[in-house]
Amino acid sequence: MSLEQLNERVNTDLSYLAYGGKPWVVPMEHPEGHVYDTVIVGGGQSGLGIAFGLLKERISNILVIDENPEGQEGPWETYARMVTLRTPKHLTAIELGVPSLTFRSWWEAQHGPEGWERLDKIPRGDWMNYLRWYRKVLKLPVVNEVKLGLIEPLERGLHRLHVEGAGIPSGKLLARKVVLATGIQGGGEWHIPPLIKEKLPSRLYAHTSEPIDIGALQGKKIAVLGGGASSFDNANFALSNGVAEAHVFVRRKEMPRINPIRQMEGSGMIERFPSLSDEDKYAVMSHFFKHNQPPTNDTYERATSWPGFRLHLGSPWLDVEADGDQAVVTTPHGKFSFDFLIISTGLITDPGLRQELRQVEKHIVRWSDRYIAPAEAANALLDAHPYLSPGFEFQSRDQVGKDLLHGLYSFNYSAMVSCGLSASALSGMRFAIPKLVSAIGDSLFHDDREQILAKFYEYDEVEFVGKWPKEAVAQ
Ligand SMILES: Cc1cc2nc3c(=O)[nH]c(=O)nc-3n(C[C@H](O)[C@H](O)[C@H](O)COP(=O)(O)OP(=O)(O)OC[C@H]3O[C@@H](n4cnc5c(N)ncnc54)[C@H](O)[C@@H]3O)c2cc1C
Repeated sequence: MSLEQLNERVNTDLSYLAYGGKPWVVPMEHPEGHVYDTVIVGGGQSGLGIAFGLLKERISNILVIDENPEGQEGPWETYARMVTLRTPKHLTAIELGVPSLTFRSWWEAQHGPEGWERLDKIPRGDWMNYLRWYRKVLKLPVVNEVKLGLIEPLERGLHRLHVEGAGIPSGKLLARKVVLATGIQGGGEWHIPPLIKEKLPSRLYAHTSEPIDIGALQGKKIAVLGGGASSFDNANFALSNGVAEAHVFVRRKEMPRINPIRQMEGSGMIERFPSLSDEDKYAVMSHFFKHNQPPTNDTYERATSWPGFRLHLGSPWLDVEADGDQAVVTTPHGKFSFDFLIISTGLITDPGLRQELRQVEKHIVRWSDRYIAPAEAANALLDAHPYLSPGFEFQSRDQVGKDLLHGLYSFNYSAMVSCGLSASALSGMRFAIPKLVSAIGDSLFHDDREQILAKFYEYDEVEFVGKWPKEAVAQ
């Protein structure tokens, strides 16, 4: 089967599902202009999957915006530096029950079933190409190079979005529901230890999420801070691009060996997580955060096989200082000088860090407002997460916030503690997207409840036109 034939098959499959039926949502009028039923912020895999999910539910008055140029959404071709995805190839994510929309059918359309057998993990660039195809074949309504700056709630269930970018010349969008599908850092920010920010000029370091001028590091000696998969990806990327030495520094004395996600994928933990009690949710995520994900074996082997690779275990950075063109790092094992540092220390989740939420942030319930964890599980990083509804909606600390936050959904990494793996890993998406879509549908329905019920009671369209004999009527 060719890609063209696959495109046809997708369309056939969708027509079998009666996809594209008449929308049911009551249109909202507003003097300022068009009101979208839902605006999805972020056109990565989550945003695209959510858009398809809503369209499947005949919620079609929607728009996706993304700050990046078309085809450059998410980390895959911007700052991710791994060779392949870390997740097993067979995981499904955003096809939402339509087999012809899976990565596998897209891959087999080009490489045949044998090509699928030969494939080990999904190459990073191919994953992005799949997302580009998915968007195109589904004709999803995405506008690129538009950035959300602020969400301004106007009244219960209506938000004015302040956006920048040529795609929306007015700079404003009106939306009843807003989904923040803003990515892994979209619930807070990437973390750089304050020590580094305070003591080093920015020319001496970059976070893994930033562009790195690798050409300028040819023949140089660099350090990578952190023991997660991205550290080894970045070390490998640097060494394969002509960097002479890459030293990875890990605080732990041993590398983590267990990947809790693999356990969760097979045990019902991902799909059933939202049904757990708060106590269990917190304990599970605390355990998850403690373990962290190890690098994949191939990533580790790729990086460590370079002669210029060095691993420093049990080596937290106690101090850093600039010495001319060099960054000097102090660990319990001594001082080390480098030409450049790559920081791979993860992210912090906190709605207070998000510019777009600045008008509503103080109302958002955090986990620390709802649950006090026992000492053995307590983790300040978890406490700062928003406490979301099972449908990813922000909850309010007070009465005023209830109206302001109505219709705001957080489908990014910050949903982890409340809703489990969702935007944070492919493994969770196929369970999480339908929950979000269902919550949005319910909310739109209930917002218009009176009107919808009134129309139901008023309904008098004749369907049955049969005639019955006079004697059939009891005298
Ligand atoms: C380096 C890296 C490697 C990963 N590898 C894997 C893996 O192998 N397997 C796995 O399961 N998961 C992996 N993940 C985790 C997860 O799958 C990815 O983070 C994935 O990109 C999440 O998809 P998303 O659509 O939620 O976010 P993204 O893909 O990040 O998309 C969000 C989009 O929203 C845009 N955006 C953000 N804010 C705004 C705004 N204010 N206005 C407009 N647009 C905005 C962003 O620019 C971005 O394009 C990885 C993550 C990273 C960072």
